[in-house]
Amino acid sequence: MELRINNLCKRYGNSVQALHNVSLTIPLGMFGLLGPNGAGKSTLMRTLATLQEADSGTATLDGIDVLKQKDDVRRVLGYLPQEFGLYPKVSAENLLMHFAALKGIRKTRREVVNALLQQTNLWEHRRKPLGSFSGGMKQRFGIAQALLGDPRLIIVDEPTAGLDPEERVRFHNLLSAIGQNIIVILSTHIVSDVSDLCGRMAIIHQGRVLLAGEPATLVAELQGRIWKKAIDASELARSGEQFQVVMVRLFAGKTLIHVLSDGQPGAGFEPVLPDLEDLYFAAIRGFLSKPALAAPLN
Ligand code: ADP
Repeated sequence: MELRINNLCKRYGNSVQALHNVSLTIPLGMFGLLGPNGAGKSTLMRTLATLQEADSGTATLDGIDVLKQKDDVRRVLGYLPQEFGLYPKVSAENLLMHFAALKGIRKTRREVVNALLQQTNLWEHRRKPLGSFSGGMKQRFGIAQALLGDPRLIIVDEPTAGLDPEERVRFHNLLSAIGQNIIVILSTHIVSDVSDLCGRMAIIHQGRVLLAGEPATLVAELQGRIWKKAIDASELARSGEQFQVVMVRLFAGKTLIHVLSDGQPGAGFEPVLPDLEDLYFAAIRGFLSKPALAAPLN
């Protein structure tokens, strides 16, 4: 099973090119679509979820033309949008029963709903009104409704924003369990969502895919090229002119910079093991636009 996206383009009005020749192959498992706000993630998610039209390009899922055979896609798709309204006075159980009926699940409705409430750890809360749910519980309910009808593709758009650390871990565990059998596309601007969860990923910025592949393989390309130094906050501007500063972090009251350089950048720099955050910021700052990485550059 595979989702193939080819040269997808989308423009809003005359100015914003939200998607620019986006091509990606997304296999079974968890796929992270990582990019800053405004990168085009939601546009791509909504297009794949058949909620809006692309200007050009193709997408196919196991022989289904995703952009044209919308009903066929909807039959195999579960979608968790960035924001979704819930009826605050209705219980989780009742709303799920209602959604199941809308999906055409009849005879097995009760069993399916019970199983989903258990799978998403909402069983003990099933009779509570949705208005009393925490952010994490609401997101898990969102996954429960997305899983109705045994989808083969699940799209979740920025699901962990606003979750506390414990809820995030719980939500991550749920997603990775689901991702064993179907395609799960997770769009996020949070790097650790991808490093914790995703076997494959792409970085998208200003509507373009900057790189795609396995996180560990992509990060390995930066091996030996990331250097750190603690500096005075007042030196920051000058460092930015002198070096390719990938990341600035405050650490124990000190300003710590990570710099991309093929050799020792200067006095006081120490080599550091690169991680996905280094890769992400190096990519979106445009430091990797030369053929530094083996991944496809669109
Ligand atoms: P992301 O989900 O990565 O934050 P979006 O797909 O929401 O990115 O947005 C990509 C770009 O398209 C942004 O510049 C955004 O302002 C613009 N955009 C998104 N939706 C619309 C719309 N309905 N009309 C006009 N511009 C839009």
